Amino acid sequence: MQTFTAGKNCVERGLPIVEGTPNFPSHIDLGRNFFNQSKLQIPVLFPGELPETLENVSVRKLEEDSFLIGPVEGIDDEDKQRALILFNYVAIGDLSFTDCTRLVIPCPHRGKKLNYLCLKGIFCPVCGTKSDFDLTNEFVHPDFGLKIVYNNLSESKGIKFLTRGVKQTNLVQDSPKFGHLFLVILNQDNGIRVIDNGIDSDDKERFFFFNGEELLHGSYKQVFVPTFENWEKALSI
Ligand SMILES: [Zn+2]
Repeated sequence: MQTFTAGKNCVERGLPIVEGTPNFPSHIDLGRNFFNQSKLQIPVLFPGELPETLENVSVRKLEEDSFLIGPVEGIDDEDKQRALILFNYVAIGDLSFTDCTRLVIPCPHRGKKLNYLCLKGIFCPVCGTKSDFDLTNEFVHPDFGLKIVYNNLSESKGIKFLTRGVKQTNLVQDSPKFGHLFLVILNQDNGIRVIDNGIDSDDKERFFFFNGEELLHGSYKQVFVPTFENWEKALSI
């Protein structure tokens, strides 16, 4: 499968390899295991010398959370259409993940009482719909407002989340930032959405979508650029 290394705002081809020692083979360093703090290193095993850049590999599993990366052997067409991605994603908070398939549904608060007060009035925390201040009004959510939802990773057959580790990277104004390292396999035409739970703004999420040749990345609008197909699906107004 093809390989990429991705950060919040960058994507490169290939995987960075840490050279081996007499005691441990060359490997991909994933920092510390997110759960039990042991070192997380994925051995890279090739007969003879390692190639300079690892742009085509296969992945095998030894046991839970234990993988090997090696040469492409007996590659079939299905494997050519997959990508192994090492994410090195610096974040303020913990990360969460969904797939990229976006569904727009009616806000589940429609018709219910609203009691979230902000400076400008009463608003819905899900869709942002505001209700004008009115003492005679019970602040009921109006019959409009939409919510965007995404599928869980576990529901997506084209995404395999292999393992994740963490590295503390630096201290910025006393606020620790963490490098989250994780390995993901994406089948062609699949993508992963990464959310930084420490940021409360439009900049909190990034989309990474493998189209069979490239790993597209950015905001939803940058990755899923409208095409004529969108025009045909869109509703008349
Ligand atoms: Zn709402």
